[in-house]
Amino acid sequence: MLRATDLTKAYGEVQALNGADLSVEPGQVVSLLGRNGAGKTTMLSIIAGLLRPDAGSVELGGIDALAKPEAAAKLLGIAPQETGIYTVLTVRQNLEFFGELSGLNGSARASRASEVAEQLGLTSLLDRRAGKLSGGEARRLHTACALVHAPKLLMLDEPTVGADVATRLQLIEAVRGLAAEGAAVVYTTHYLPEVEALDADIVIIDDGRVLAEGTREQLVAEHELRGLRFVVDGGLPSGLQWDVTEVGEGTYRVLGDLDMRDLLAAFGPESDRLVSVEALKPDLETVFLAVTGNRLDAEPDGGPDARAAAQTTEEVGS
Ligand code: ATP
Repeated sequence: MLRATDLTKAYGEVQALNGADLSVEPGQVVSLLGRNGAGKTTMLSIIAGLLRPDAGSVELGGIDALAKPEAAAKLLGIAPQETGIYTVLTVRQNLEFFGELSGLNGSARASRASEVAEQLGLTSLLDRRAGKLSGGEARRLHTACALVHAPKLLMLDEPTVGADVATRLQLIEAVRGLAAEGAAVVYTTHYLPEVEALDADIVIIDDGRVLAEGTREQLVAEHELRGLRFVVDGGLPSGLQWDVTEVGEGTYRVLGDLDMRDLLAAFGPESDRLVSVEALKPDLETVFLAVTGNRLDAEPDGGPDARAAAQTTEEVGS
């Protein structure tokens, strides 16, 4: 359905995409994983015809989307990060308006509006003005507007930011339902449990390049990361020779083929300050770390924000 090849894009000095590829088949959900600034939005914008690449090609349903953007646009629905609904229109009017823009007319438009409202739990809100929706409801409407014309390729850029658990579940169910009906879906998120819930294939992007792709199982098998995570009372011993990363308050991670005995030996007389130790578990978080050398929630260049993020989020293997 989608074949984007060798996409390259610079914004002045910033090389946002550096020869990135993305392919999605009908019925497939691909989760695009990358840190802030990795190039995900740039990639989606190029595929959606909102941005010209410096080089590369985009083929959508057999159409050269860069040469024929209008024909390609009919095949796709995109929900960008910022919600783009009309607050003075009702939920139904929003859905019908976006349906009309995509070429739906008359009764088809009305029935698709009702269908997607049902899928995303908006039926009881159809006559309410969009400006009077809660944040989660507005986000569901934003997504519903992208899928009202039953696109063959649906691209959702972090659709669950700020959404509560019920909204997340509804969105995930709706996306799975669309894929089951044959749509190709690209889904970006920083939230790994969603990737698992979607049962999505994964593409890891960093610095504008695709570094790994495959199913969760394939990636976990290929990029197993060995190491320990441990909690220390009172900070690391001053003479510790290991390359240790602090990943939370008093919590550290060290990579390598190590076990508990190595840790006890390294701490020597100070080993009584070790509160807990566990092996890193093979999961998507460790895959991401193994592939990119970074945590998914860290800032691109590390620094204070990354440190703050590391201290406030769950860590590898927890
Ligand atoms: P996020 O997870 O934060 O949404 P992303 O993976 O979507 O990030 P992009 O928005 O594609 O990343 O940005 C890729 C790089 O290009 C970043 O370094 C970003 O600062 C830069 N960039 C994006 N848009 C512009 C722009 N209009 N002008 C200049 N630089 C830009």
